[in-house]
Amino acid sequence: MSRAAASSSWRSIDSLLDEEDRAIRDTVRAYVERSVRPQIADWYESGEIPARELARELGQLGVLGMHLEGYGCAGTSATAYGLVCLELEAGDSGLRSLVSVQGSLAMFAIWKWGSEEHKQEWLPRMAAGEAIGCFGLTEPDFGSNPGGMRTRARRDGDDWVLTGNKMWITNGSIADVAVVWAQTDEGDPARPGSGVRGFVVPTGTPGFSAPAIKHKLSLRASVTSELVLDEVRLPASAAFPEVRGLTGPLSCLNEARFGIVFGALGAARDCLETAIGYAGERAIFDKPLAGYQITQTKLADMTLELGKGMLLAVQLGRLKDAHALRPEQISLGKLNNVREAIAIARECRTILGAAGITLEFPVLRHANNLESVLTYEGTSEVHQLIIGQALTGESAYR
Ligand code: FAD
Repeated sequence: MSRAAASSSWRSIDSLLDEEDRAIRDTVRAYVERSVRPQIADWYESGEIPARELARELGQLGVLGMHLEGYGCAGTSATAYGLVCLELEAGDSGLRSLVSVQGSLAMFAIWKWGSEEHKQEWLPRMAAGEAIGCFGLTEPDFGSNPGGMRTRARRDGDDWVLTGNKMWITNGSIADVAVVWAQTDEGDPARPGSGVRGFVVPTGTPGFSAPAIKHKLSLRASVTSELVLDEVRLPASAAFPEVRGLTGPLSCLNEARFGIVFGALGAARDCLETAIGYAGERAIFDKPLAGYQITQTKLADMTLELGKGMLLAVQLGRLKDAHALRPEQISLGKLNNVREAIAIARECRTILGAAGITLEFPVLRHANNLESVLTYEGTSEVHQLIIGQALTGESAYR
């Protein structure tokens, strides 16, 4: 069975999408098939991706910061952006991460919170893929609880001086600009994180370095780095002018989490299409594996979860386009769709038997990638706590 035929059962979702969103999605799908799929296993195995080249191609496709208005960005619907994340992640979660971090974290932070000068300087080049951005929030000792971060920004005359370490930063070593969040003295000591401010840091600034993190077993086709800030001196204008506290970084995380609601389903879809194709061709006990009830039960249940996840994603897209999407709804989508995607990837791996553990098929690569997707942009447990708080009014973080 062809990939297209295998996917027809859940393509009926198309009737819920408008024509422009479908056209954007199809363009990106064709790009992934043409330019990513033939090479992705090699990039994954070597742990090296041609990120700059990919960023330029993605810039030409118009997907970098595509849901933002102005400054060279396309201003598409949020739903179209979600669908693009899905198609990119059907190629590899690393590719989608490159686009998410560029568009939803680094560009969105500058677009939403930056000065006019920041926007003019960075956004057009970032939209074109000529400049790459990263987003430094997590630290070695502060992941789920960023309010405790130790990176500090202190005033020295008019300047800011940044010192600290960020960890697990996507695109860090290849970035031209880093959005870095740091503690300042401007907060209320009784409210952890209230003094956090964001800074636009050109990565060539003395004292800034970004060593790559090696030996990853997940998201190997993605650059992940530490950021070292050793007395990085910046002009007063480097700080985001208005935003204080965790409102800034959390607003960006919500953008990226929304993309993942769709994106994770792309990895799941690719696994399911692969498993259906494989089961049709693999003869076991003299007939195709696809002809056994146990296999069909697995395929039917996975198709069900994929379809439910798509309906959820499209509905969240509609709410976002109507400016009515609440953070806890994004949490519902991220929690469910990543959890189901990883379950689908693992189940599909069983259908492929031993062949499923190789890079000849995308399934275990997707499953391994989804381990990172489960952790970043809020772990499952953090999303459960967000939903729990929305339901009960009680915060159970500490
Ligand atoms: P921890 O916070 O130490 O969590 C460990 C465990 O404790 C988890 O299971 C967690 O759910 C659980 N836990 C936490 N709090 C509670 C609680 N209150 N109750 C019960 N259980 C709890 N960060 C960036 O800033 N920028 C990036 O670009 C970026 N890219 C990343 C790329 C990759 C490949 C990865 C793996 C991570 C990336 N991250 C990035 C970091 C990511 O956001 C963090 O890993 C994530 O927030 C979790 O933090 P942690 O790893 O420190 O885990």
